[in-house]
Amino acid sequence: MEGKNVVVGGWVEDIRELGKLIFLTLRDVTGVAQIVLVGEDSLKQTKGLTKQSVIKVTGMIQKSKARDFAYEIKSNKIDILTVAIHPLPIDPIGRLESNIDNRLNARALDLRNQKTAAIFKLRHHALVSIRKTLTEKSFLEVNTPKLIGSASEGGANLFSLKYFEKQAYLAQSPQLYKEQLTIGLERVFEIASYYRAEKSHTIRHLTEFTSVDIEAAFMDYSDVMDVLESVIVDVFEYTAKNCSAEQKALDIEIKKPSIPFERITYKKAIEELGCDGIKLEAGDDLQDAHLRKLGERHLGFYFLTDWPMKLKPFYIHEKDDDPSLSRSFDLQYGYLELSSGGTRLHNPVKLKSRLIEQGLNPVQFEDHLRAFDWGMPPHSGWGLGLDRLMSVLTNIDNVREVVLYPRDPERLFP
Ligand code: ATP
Ligand code: MN
Repeated sequence: MEGKNVVVGGWVEDIRELGKLIFLTLRDVTGVAQIVLVGEDSLKQTKGLTKQSVIKVTGMIQKSKARDFAYEIKSNKIDILTVAIHPLPIDPIGRLESNIDNRLNARALDLRNQKTAAIFKLRHHALVSIRKTLTEKSFLEVNTPKLIGSASEGGANLFSLKYFEKQAYLAQSPQLYKEQLTIGLERVFEIASYYRAEKSHTIRHLTEFTSVDIEAAFMDYSDVMDVLESVIVDVFEYTAKNCSAEQKALDIEIKKPSIPFERITYKKAIEELGCDGIKLEAGDDLQDAHLRKLGERHLGFYFLTDWPMKLKPFYIHEKDDDPSLSRSFDLQYGYLELSSGGTRLHNPVKLKSRLIEQGLNPVQFEDHLRAFDWGMPPHSGWGLGLDRLMSVLTNIDNVREVVLYPRDPERLFP
């Protein structure tokens, strides 16, 4: 386009005066351009112009002598559309490092940092890939309510709120709905926000997080582990191929993980921990320290399967050969839990007695239990924490970095 006249708009990243010339770097979502402002009143035009102001430039494309640009736009006219304040609360170019709190307090501005923007472009492409994989496997995307009338899975970690004259809760997962939907739709998935009223101060817990959930009729837990493995591998393959600029901005190289993911039973994991000097009884839950130890042995992705029934929610199916164990799994990335899933009970009598066993009141589950009398197919599913997956994909430890406006016990604004 050398010699062509153009009009470009964007954000001023840098302003430099060189004698009578003014050099501007202008950025928009497609990239960065150098503007050389010439002419009598070029100085006058940029008076009061601050970094990150929004301008419109009219000019002509010419070859550039600059190190970073092959071409530039020579202009004698800019229009200032919006003036940004000076100083800004954070340096959006990232030359001056800001701590995460200051960045989150100015998140909209933080996104002008190419590194931050790259995270959310990757997140978009990961979602595109997930939808593609699941759609190709005949899963249908659904939306279930987040405002719910009864504490669906039990547990004390529900946010409650006033719902006119009634009490309502924010959904902690789509569990009951997605199971019911296997009756009519067989294979469903949902990507949505869920809420947990837990005062966790970790780099992997938020009070509002995004989950990818699936539920499938006529699948066993090993079938849905296959689906999960495909979803994950496709995300890595798709973003490795389609997101080179983002990888460069984040200084990462996304690689397709090797398959199949290892499948280790809970029993085997306990034995391995025993060899590492950690004595656990069958039935003990695996604490953070235990998972960290296991993560040292099993790098990358692996499944932990066949957990004790007593550690699992009421809807999980027992194993035929050992009813104290369950047809369940977690997907781990090193120490980090990414997903939980399993085969569900589809027999209403068993389901009701499991509710009672776990100290839950079947009356509160009447709506759900009723659906089990209408021809409930055997079914399995999982929930995958998208934010945690993104932190693995981007190699960024703190899940707050990969969520636009994270919510934790301390943070409710902006
Ligand atoms: P954890 O033991 O790590 O607290 P969990 O077992 O309570 O997780 P599940 O109920 O199994 O979580 O939810 C399924 C997935 O959703 C988890 O594997 C995780 O990836 C994600 N997830 C759950 N809770 C949170 C949270 N508070 N913040 C971010 N992601 C979460
Ligand atoms: Mn879990």
